[in-house]
Amino acid sequence: MKRREFVGAGLALASAWPFRGWSAVLKNVGDVAAKSLEGADITLRGSSIEALSAGLSGDLLMPGQQRYEQARLIWNGMFDKRPALIARCTGAADVMQAVNFAREHQLLTAVRAGGHSFSGKSTCDGGLMIDLEPMTGVRVDPKARRAYLETGSRLQLLDHETQAFGLATTAGTVSDTGAAGLTLGGGLGRLGRRFGLSCDNVVGADVVTAAGSLVHASESENADLLWGLRGGGGNFGVVTSLEYRLHPVDPIVLAGEVAWPFDQARDVLRYVLEFGERMPDELSLEPTLVWTPDGKPLISVEACWSADHASGEKLLAPLRRIGKPINDSIAPMTYVTLQSSADAGLPAGNNYYAKSGFMPKLDEADIDLILATFLEAPTKFIMFMESYGGAYGRVPVEATAFPNRKEKFFLLIVSQWKGNEDDARHLSDLRGSWKRIDHLARGFYTNLADPDTTAAVIHDNYGPNFPRLSALKAKYDPMNLFRLNANVPPKV
Ligand SMILES: Cc1cc2nc3c(=O)[nH]c(=O)nc-3n(C[C@H](O)[C@H](O)[C@H](O)COP(=O)(O)OP(=O)(O)OC[C@H]3O[C@@H](n4cnc5c(N)ncnc54)[C@H](O)[C@@H]3O)c2cc1C
Repeated sequence: MKRREFVGAGLALASAWPFRGWSAVLKNVGDVAAKSLEGADITLRGSSIEALSAGLSGDLLMPGQQRYEQARLIWNGMFDKRPALIARCTGAADVMQAVNFAREHQLLTAVRAGGHSFSGKSTCDGGLMIDLEPMTGVRVDPKARRAYLETGSRLQLLDHETQAFGLATTAGTVSDTGAAGLTLGGGLGRLGRRFGLSCDNVVGADVVTAAGSLVHASESENADLLWGLRGGGGNFGVVTSLEYRLHPVDPIVLAGEVAWPFDQARDVLRYVLEFGERMPDELSLEPTLVWTPDGKPLISVEACWSADHASGEKLLAPLRRIGKPINDSIAPMTYVTLQSSADAGLPAGNNYYAKSGFMPKLDEADIDLILATFLEAPTKFIMFMESYGGAYGRVPVEATAFPNRKEKFFLLIVSQWKGNEDDARHLSDLRGSWKRIDHLARGFYTNLADPDTTAAVIHDNYGPNFPRLSALKAKYDPMNLFRLNANVPPKV
């Protein structure tokens, strides 16, 4: 294929063929300062960068190119990083080239799918970003109830394609989140109590390992790797495609939100706590504490009932009768609409910091503490308490890499602000609030690792699965090339 050429260190466009799908080949590139895996200063030869560029079907972007500035951005504006190179991969062949380049140069390497890493792990300063964004596509086999996803795809595409056939699998609650990152670290969502984590529904995957080879993982081939991919995050290589098990789900669910003034929060949480113990798997509830734009605290509960509507109406009636709600939007709606209903609240580009954990119980005293912590926080945050249990908890801890199975609620607090001047205050305030309640939670969610998540915390969280994960890491990534994640070091 004839391709456009970018020339010189300033990367001037030599040939203006703006055809879609044609990528830019870099020429006359000077040497580039970069960072090694260990953070040391290294130099990448211009000639080797040109060779990488020529070998890719997608673009190789460098600082100075206009599209670089857009491509380097991720969802969390707090991480304003500048990779030395961004490989915009169009398929497994590009990923293999990028991985080989990174390994040969011992180059710091980040893997980006949907770019929704809370902790900014999908980008880096001075390293290589392996960017899967161009790899989008979901093919559904309705008869076999399978979806085949290219790993640059967002959740909205997965839901859109599967729901066209009255099928679905567990996906997260914000539709522009990347399916790959979410799935590899677990995957909680509105259907999770019915069908388990997103990763529980993965039955096959293609992975480019640190050696640069493409391997397939399934129950019958490299089953150890499939086990690790179900919750072990991005530790074992770059996953280029995922095969999901699908389930029949009516495209119209009974769902929406009921909201109350904060003075009724105690009654609402008490009800959810009691009801959560016995509610059917087809129901998910997510109590949320928020501040309104005019500075008033309130509690809302989002409900999603994915079975027959008459039973759902009956089941949800007591919740809707608590106290005096100020809003009640529960009604039949498409599952796809519901899946994007929370998008606007967490827009890309703002700065975010989060803390999370899984709660084994929630008693009256815990409720009081949670409410007080929310109200008294020096900096306002949102608190989500997602109902857990059901199918999440029916998978034995050691059956997959994902360790947090037996708890009752998932707890998440998120602080959101604009601009980097106030980062330190926001981080310290949220840490302070979390300190008051972290004894209520056990472990943390792999997908929400943050700068406080030390190696010891990751080790403890994986519990009995850690030695097996560490041995798997030694097999597939002995040099720890893929370390920008909730990292499991290779067993020595
Ligand atoms: C707005 C928002 C809403 C969220 N809602 C939910 C939710 O409802 N449920 C839930 O479970 N989680 C949720 N999360 C957390 C989410 O699961 C993680 O942030 C996840 O890592 C995002 O995946 P991504 O592909 O978009 O991110 P990226 O930033 O692209 O990737 C994150 C990390 O995943 C790894 N990775 C990604 N793709 C690959 C790949 N193909 N091969 C190897 N490693 C890879 C890399 O280590 C990378 O650093 C949410 C996050 C955000 C920001």
